[in-house]
Amino acid sequence: MSKEEGLECSFCGRKKAETSLLIAGLDAHICDRCIEQAHGIVVEEALHSTKSEISKDVMLKKPTTIKAFLDDYVIGQENTKKVMSVAVYNHYKRLLQPKSDDDIEIQKSNIIIVGETGTGKTLVAKTVARMLNVPLAIVDATVLTEAGYVGEDVESILTRLLQAADYNVEKAQNGIVFIDEIDKIARKSDNPSITRDVSGEGVQQALLKLLEGTTVNVPPKGGRKHPDQKFIEVDTENILFIAGGAFDGIEKKISKRLNLQAVGFSASKKEDTLERDNMLKYIIPKDLKDFGLIPEIIGRLPVLTYMNPLDKGALKDILTVPKNAIIKQYIKLFEMDEIELVVTEEALDFIVEQAVEYKLGARGLRSLCEAVLTDAMFELPGTENKTLHVTKEYAEEKLNKSTIKKLKAVS
Ligand code: ADP
Repeated sequence: MSKEEGLECSFCGRKKAETSLLIAGLDAHICDRCIEQAHGIVVEEALHSTKSEISKDVMLKKPTTIKAFLDDYVIGQENTKKVMSVAVYNHYKRLLQPKSDDDIEIQKSNIIIVGETGTGKTLVAKTVARMLNVPLAIVDATVLTEAGYVGEDVESILTRLLQAADYNVEKAQNGIVFIDEIDKIARKSDNPSITRDVSGEGVQQALLKLLEGTTVNVPPKGGRKHPDQKFIEVDTENILFIAGGAFDGIEKKISKRLNLQAVGFSASKKEDTLERDNMLKYIIPKDLKDFGLIPEIIGRLPVLTYMNPLDKGALKDILTVPKNAIIKQYIKLFEMDEIELVVTEEALDFIVEQAVEYKLGARGLRSLCEAVLTDAMFELPGTENKTLHVTKEYAEEKLNKSTIKKLKAVS
């Protein structure tokens, strides 16, 4: 018998010949079956300790640390970043609070962010989830309807979260849900109709329960297409909900409220200075109520914050400053072909101006860059050409050729 054949698994005693794989350690061996079994134990253990791990992890992160992380990815939006950092910190502190008999129950710090589209609301939610390493579900409120109507039930939100958590219920229960376009389920009170308001107030009512904290039977595959599936029970008590919406026209309600209050205090002067500001800065929960959110929902989203519109400076920073800034991504892509990409300041300014002109905001920056760089990304790899200098003229020429031009014609 050769020395090799005499080897056996130090855990189960199987001979080498009986295993598919025998891995040597310092003075022991382990076979494939024992590895699998051990892996199972590790996974099981991890599942049990997930909760304490999440909490421990989070507790190490003070609000200033959370804000600093956000700063790496989100340009500007100082107020929201600060407010979010505190809300997230308090949220996880609440999870950790030991049961006490002093009757002080810390309320959930669900958040509502008001701001134009493309100003970074989703990005903030994504970044927080990434930092905390918790699952995130992004859902669009416009697809939600009351149970029994065409559309998705609000429970589908939790299906998404379960999926994002790889069906680890414990993780999902400590996750984050971002509900986009919450303004689209505002009550349509000035539009009385004999049909029920199935996508407005009804959905708000249904959402209310999730926000408050309740146990929901969630269809793991979602929807009504799979009627036979076993439900998974999910407790929403510790899920952090972040709602976002543009609330088109809410500025008017805010300025109306402010001007009314200003009567008698040299109103015209005050009006002047306020007009030039971002009105959203003055938003209060009452404005959301006037817009059509029911008071109960507003009460369950106690942290209210706003986003500033992005000016040219912010758009330019978005191109180059964040850790995973768009231009940095292209530089990396070209680097993989040993090509050095240099984009001049004038070219960056030009791209920003186009984004403003096309009314595309931050969302347009990526498609504009794609339009400028596609030819080079197609042609340069594999050639002798090892540098790409993108000047304003180069960018202009490429954009003129591209179909993105058509956007301008339409808008
Ligand atoms: P919203 O949710 O407000 O509609 P998003 O967060 O989806 O906006 O923003 C769209 C994209 O624009 C993001 O993926 C990001 O690349 C960019 N972006 C928007 N705002 C910012 C910002 N403040 N800082 C960095 N990037 C931003």
